[in-house]
Amino acid sequence: MDTTYSISGYVFLYLANLNLRRKTSRELLVTDDFFLLDRLDITPLFNPKTIAIARFLFLNTEAPRLTCKTAQSLLGNETDSCNCSKATLCPKYKYLYNRVHELKRVVGALRLGTIIDPNKRRDILTEGWRFVPDTSVSVIDDRK
Ligand SMILES: [Zn+2]
Repeated sequence: MDTTYSISGYVFLYLANLNLRRKTSRELLVTDDFFLLDRLDITPLFNPKTIAIARFLFLNTEAPRLTCKTAQSLLGNETDSCNCSKATLCPKYKYLYNRVHELKRVVGALRLGTIIDPNKRRDILTEGWRFVPDTSVSVIDDRK
């Protein structure tokens, strides 16, 4: 009896794993407060300081892109001092760059997609970043 039980347990695990690997569609639900991936709350995986930026990127996969100026206003920062033509002219750019880099790691680990830089690296401030969802991921806007 025990042997039968453990064999069926292994079979179950094997099938569950197979099902997970084969799963070709995943749902990323974006609400005002949470990110849910197939109804699992993944919000705690994000640095609270990156959530507003992540929400913007998830919901604007085509346009507009995340520029330094947009990001600063999402972070609640003053944007008047944001001269974004050159990284060296924007005092807040380094902070933003590090937050986006953090986001890239979380998004990559969850296989949600990729956050891409503009073609020319120096255009990052004016052209901005963009999120390209993985082909398995559908982003659903569920804000109030
Ligand atoms: Zn700036």
